[in-house]
Amino acid sequence: MIEAGEEGGTARVRASVTDFVNVMGYCEHKLDLIARDVQVPQPEAVRRGGEAHVMEEERDARDVAERIVRGELVPATEEAIADPAAAIEIERESVYTTYESPVAVAGRTAHVRLVGRADKVCRVGGALRVVDNKFASNPSRYEGRDGPFLDQRLQVLTYLNSSFSPDQSRSESLDIPHERKEWSVQIHDAATREPAVTFVGTQDERDLALLASHLARFAGIALGWVEPAHHDNPRKCRPCQYVGVCEFALRGEPAAKG
Ligand code: SF4
Repeated sequence: MIEAGEEGGTARVRASVTDFVNVMGYCEHKLDLIARDVQVPQPEAVRRGGEAHVMEEERDARDVAERIVRGELVPATEEAIADPAAAIEIERESVYTTYESPVAVAGRTAHVRLVGRADKVCRVGGALRVVDNKFASNPSRYEGRDGPFLDQRLQVLTYLNSSFSPDQSRSESLDIPHERKEWSVQIHDAATREPAVTFVGTQDERDLALLASHLARFAGIALGWVEPAHHDNPRKCRPCQYVGVCEFALRGEPAAKG
């Protein structure tokens, strides 16, 4: 879902967090296809990832219950959530997020609203931590990396800087007092669901600048104020779900660097 336009003299962009990171972390030409709701079959990897998430939810619920029994966590009651010293984990997939902010782009201002649902939100040692789980068919592509891919980093940063709600209508707010913000991207082997790599970081100024610049560009492209850029990499087009319908799809080999 991506909607953009002028309302009452204010330029507004509304989208899901998933679509925002799919565009800014993978390919800017996806924006127009998503906004026009061009229908394509769901990639197999996405379907399998959805199934793995459901199984992870069940495993995680058992794990949290066991840690509460061992005294490592307290149940996430209203009282415990309000106590900044309490270690808590909110039930998986039950925190709805809303990011809202004005952004400056192309000498103008747009109002951006991104809605999503975090995989997991917890408080560890006074830090508000957002955890996102990814299920990779080829976990070896993470070997040697010192951080998550751009789309994964943008996703956790967007959640971390959103307001939270325990209900999908977002009528109630969920405030979790904290001293700092941390993100965690946990990569699992899609075949076994076993953890493969975990990236953890404390949000800093560079993270905020990264998020701000990508939000501004996203709004600019959605509103037609900025032209989308092409990644010029056929290796990204080949597995893209839009490759069969996209006029910008590249089907050759990547150009040799010289
Ligand atoms: S086919 Fe290529 S250019 Fe088109 S949306 Fe997909 S990745 Fe982007």
